[in-house]
Amino acid sequence: MPGSDNLPSLAGQAWLSSAATQGVLAVIEAGGHQARAVGGVVRNGLLGLAITDIDIATTALPQDVMRLARAADLGVAETGLQHGTVTVIADHRPFEVTTLRRDVESHGRHATVAFTDDWTEDARRRDFTMNALYCDRSGRVHDPLGGYTDLIARRVCFIGDAADRIREDYLRILRFFRFTAQYAEGGHDAVGLLACARLRGGLAQLSRERIHQEMTRLLTARRAVEAVMVMQAHGILAEILPAAPRPTVFRRLTEIETALAWKPDAMLRLAALGVVTSEDASRIGRAFKVSRAEHGILDLGASETARLTTPPSQGSARKLVYTQGPDNYRRLIALSLAGALAYSTTDPLWIAALTLPDRWAAPKLPVTGADVMARGVAAGPAVGDALRRIEAWWIARDFAPSRDELLAQLDLSA
Ligand code: ATP
Ligand code: MG
Repeated sequence: MPGSDNLPSLAGQAWLSSAATQGVLAVIEAGGHQARAVGGVVRNGLLGLAITDIDIATTALPQDVMRLARAADLGVAETGLQHGTVTVIADHRPFEVTTLRRDVESHGRHATVAFTDDWTEDARRRDFTMNALYCDRSGRVHDPLGGYTDLIARRVCFIGDAADRIREDYLRILRFFRFTAQYAEGGHDAVGLLACARLRGGLAQLSRERIHQEMTRLLTARRAVEAVMVMQAHGILAEILPAAPRPTVFRRLTEIETALAWKPDAMLRLAALGVVTSEDASRIGRAFKVSRAEHGILDLGASETARLTTPPSQGSARKLVYTQGPDNYRRLIALSLAGALAYSTTDPLWIAALTLPDRWAAPKLPVTGADVMARGVAAGPAVGDALRRIEAWWIARDFAPSRDELLAQLDLSA
């Protein structure tokens, strides 16, 4: 309820009582302005969940925020000045301080903004009711649009007309699924879902960076499996994923991660969802503008080793740990199991294979190029060839031969 006093107080929460947060809010208020925390920090604070970054909304204009912060010896970065955002750094922590605003004209991300001192106007330009909660320095929560009721009911609802809000910024379609996957109980808000489905064609206008950022969070959210299924059923996944989706493999991978207490891996999940061939990896990689390292993970999905139908024997498993490294080995075996006909997260042989790198670290080949050359091989490609031969011999004997045995073997073949 707007202006209600029945909202719980956030007084005493560590992020709010920290000297840095109190300092930033106090410095702005000492200039005669109002300043309140907003968005994720208030939402998660009310739910008792972990806090990430702290966003602050203020009636002060950006120039005033910068002047006041500098005068108080706080760090200042002009990160998003065109939409009224200044990053203030206190105690090495960044605070995104944004002047209250209403969006007068929107072309996707590039909204023309008008500053205001009206908290309700600022709330209306935000995406979901649960994201339009504010908290002042004393811990008092302000709720101009009744978002608290939705938060407690765990409903992700657009502010205002869902279709209008999506047309202003198509990223809100992905944010709708991301926040529902993170915070909702029950299904998707029906009105929001229908609007997302109708306007899905607008997703093509989004920058690849924004897709990457939002999809990474969506795919690792608590209820990502359901999000993917609902997005697929409503034609939304097809607008952003340039490959045939495999929701079952995706679900199984999340189950494997849970069974082994692995941290959700966004790129591995994306590989499970959409990569069968190298071309899939390239297309998805382009659509999501992934880094080289991320592309390497996507490409694992195209590997033959991601398609094992039975758990690898100990020998071939060790060989894979040695050649792929422990992280990619785990990923490949997980992709194999997720796609296997006899899928089970309790099969002891698969579990043993998945957890091999926890028990066994691949040794380093105990001989080097210098050892090869000491046996008369001239510097050049022949050294590498000889090393590869001795390495294969060593691996075939399950990494058991010692350095002396390897040197003896080199002598034999020299
Ligand atoms: P978290 O940081 O935990 O992911 P958050 O709610 O803080 O969640 P941010 O992306 O940091 O999310 O955005 C901060 C706030 O800014 C949001 O809570 C919301 O009020 C507003 N906001 C962010 N992006 C949009 C958008 N595309 N459209 C409308 N409002 C937005
Ligand atoms: Mg945030």
